[in-house]
Amino acid sequence: MIGIVGGGLAGLSAAYRLRRAGYDARVFEAAPEVGGLAATYPTAGDPVERFYHHLSKSETAVVDLAEEVGVGDRIEWRVGKNAYYAGGTIHPLDAPWELLAYPDLTLYDTFRLGLLALGVDVRGGRPRRHAYDDLAAFDDVPVREFLLEHATEGVYEHFFEPLLEAKFGSRREDVSAAWLLGRIRFRGERDPLRGEILGYVEGGFGVLLDALVEAVGRENVVTGARVTGLDYGDRVESLTVETDAGTETHDAEAVIVATMPDVLTALADYRCGIDFQGSVCALLTMEEALTDTYWLNVADDAPFGALVEHTNFVPPERYGGEHLLYVASYVQDRTEEIWTLDDDALRERWLAGIEDLFHRFDRGTVTDFRVARHPRTAPIYERGYLDAVVPCDLADEVAEGLYYAGMASRAQYPERSLDGAVRAGYECANRIAGGRDATVETVRRAD
Ligand SMILES: Cc1cc2nc3c(=O)[nH]c(=O)nc-3n(C[C@H](O)[C@H](O)[C@H](O)COP(=O)(O)OP(=O)(O)OC[C@H]3O[C@@H](n4cnc5c(N)ncnc54)[C@H](O)[C@@H]3O)c2cc1C
Repeated sequence: MIGIVGGGLAGLSAAYRLRRAGYDARVFEAAPEVGGLAATYPTAGDPVERFYHHLSKSETAVVDLAEEVGVGDRIEWRVGKNAYYAGGTIHPLDAPWELLAYPDLTLYDTFRLGLLALGVDVRGGRPRRHAYDDLAAFDDVPVREFLLEHATEGVYEHFFEPLLEAKFGSRREDVSAAWLLGRIRFRGERDPLRGEILGYVEGGFGVLLDALVEAVGRENVVTGARVTGLDYGDRVESLTVETDAGTETHDAEAVIVATMPDVLTALADYRCGIDFQGSVCALLTMEEALTDTYWLNVADDAPFGALVEHTNFVPPERYGGEHLLYVASYVQDRTEEIWTLDDDALRERWLAGIEDLFHRFDRGTVTDFRVARHPRTAPIYERGYLDAVVPCDLADEVAEGLYYAGMASRAQYPERSLDGAVRAGYECANRIAGGRDATVETVRRAD
């Protein structure tokens, strides 16, 4: 048996690949349901993710997987409008003229920002296209230094710094330029007249998770099963699983840890140097829309970093006519006040924050306020990050037969995503099925 620790998308993708290749793979998921960070809440219509989710046009592994498990026709590409709340106003940011109208940037700032977004380096007076394609080359470059050199001070101060502050708080100057460039590329597909083209699964990402569980075989996915021990010498031998029924030990010829690296530390004493940030994310159910924007970054002083109005991306009719708004904040450590608030205090703080930004907002229209918190939801993509990535095959570091597919994988660089989770899962499955030198591509060709 090949034991997989974690029934998020990475673990399920690994199990799917392995079972297709004829292996006896079994997933052990600690929570009562699969999905991990992509798990869903019920609504008056379709289920919706606890943390906002969409796909970018550049992501193909997750789309191909959806095709393979029979739900490819449920993937839909929709327009998501982006805007920036700054200086007490919403500034749409989709069309080129909207960028030109963005306050506090000079015409030259906007020009340099536009070129950066197009991947053109104009330093030295000779434009170079595709200048930023090799993201790893920017892994050691501090993001601030990069922006001052490759754009302008105005671009850094008025455009990116508030975004970095909202996302990384006190850690913003530690982040590498590679993360920012990856982010620009990730969110790069636009309809110049309407907004960003983003993917979603009709019915929510739970549709993909369900199809994947079916493809793996429900009997091979055990929920409410926390892996608490790993037995190994030179080779992996067995894992210990705790369920409501008690403790079981399963012999395993290989184990894939498809979750955060702290689990790898607990099971195999492998220490990963990557710091993670946590998220506090509320989903508000409302009787009416707040804005007409999908993704609103908030640069002004507010107790949250972004408002993501899901029903401006996927229509409210899918949710029984209700409007859904995510209010989100990242936390760098658990002493931050937002992390310590209980649901009632958080509700009060965030509704008051929305009222400050939108004077016509009526909190009486909020019919539900559900909170998801997770202490590790994204790596801090610091300079030198690639050196700290956890290898897929941990034979040299721990024991033969131990693999890692969690968020600290190379596939989840320079931004974590569902697509990265699929690729991380495949990478481990392919190593097991194809030997130590196999890559996703070699095994795909062999299929
Ligand atoms: C706020 C937020 C917004 C996001 N937005 C997007 C987006 O728009 N687009 C996108 O592509 N991605 C997005 N992501 C990222 C995406 O959710 C993740 O990259 C992906 O879900 C990671 O999957 P995973 O399987 O690696 O990890 P996880 O989803 O974390 O799954 C790990 C699983 O392991 C289980 N587990 C942990 N310990 C044990 C144990 N000891 N034994 C058994 N099971 C265990 C956990 O319960 C969990 O289910 C977002 C994430 C967050 C938090």
